Amino acid sequence: SRTYLITGAASGIGRATAELLCAQGHTVIGADLKDSDISADLATAEGRAELVTRARELAGGRLDAVVACAGLAHADPLTIKVNHFGAVATFEGLHPLLASGTDPRALVIGSVDAVHPTDSAIVDAALAGDEEAAVAASRLAVDRGEGHLVYSSSKAAISRWIRRTAVKDDWAGAGIPLNAVGPGVILTPLTRPLLDDPETRRLVEQAVPMPLHGHARPEQLAPLIAWLTSPENTHVTGQVVFADGGADAVLRGDRI
Ligand code: NAD
Repeated sequence: SRTYLITGAASGIGRATAELLCAQGHTVIGADLKDSDISADLATAEGRAELVTRARELAGGRLDAVVACAGLAHADPLTIKVNHFGAVATFEGLHPLLASGTDPRALVIGSVDAVHPTDSAIVDAALAGDEEAAVAASRLAVDRGEGHLVYSSSKAAISRWIRRTAVKDDWAGAGIPLNAVGPGVILTPLTRPLLDDPETRRLVEQAVPMPLHGHARPEQLAPLIAWLTSPENTHVTGQVVFADGGADAVLRGDRI
């Protein structure tokens, strides 16, 4: 059995993944704002440090896999802090524990929104590792009425970070696959308010068309996450694996 650390484990995709892995007999250490083994706010430097310190204690110095599910979709600079910088801090901070693990694997939840229009100032600042500039660019987007770009930009940035980082010496060279899963619309507390309102529901359905099976439950995503972070995944790395009912194929078409 393996030891997994999952951020965002108290709700939605993180919780469903934790439940599946526990049912398979693995040990799961959960992290979230509250209601988890580790309470840590991944928007802050203190929370990111707390995650690493507590993970080291609870896991006994080694982890076999890290799954970064913590995230939010607010039209607010907080979204770039958690979705991009919180995930990067999770992977960088826990890398030494993974390096001591058996068949180590790492994965973040991206989004099909990464293929939507983005704000290049936010994405570029995020990829340069400049959190202050990324927050400032996010605030500008919000101020000019384009706050929705903060979320798509956070997902584009973390997807590109994954691709750049996965092939480096300390990941691929150390035998650690690093991937993203890109969901379409999953029925979780994150999307419930959008889907409950008929007006925003129509906008969501337009923006993320899902011809195959429609909106998904988080339990339908968990097996893919489990496989990508299992020892069976020996060669998939640097990928954003879309699990989106066909949304990426509709939106991007031939652009591959
Ligand atoms: P959710 O709201 O059910 O779960 C997200 C969890 O992240 C929550 O428990 C929340 O407390 C935690 N979190 C938020 N901010 C945090 C912080 N600062 N520090 C620590 N934890 C924090 O949402 P979900 O739908 O399960 O989303 C999980 C991930 O999947 C997110 O990255 C989201 O962007 C992504 N995603 C979701 C969908 C969807 O349709 N639900 C689609 C694409 C991508």
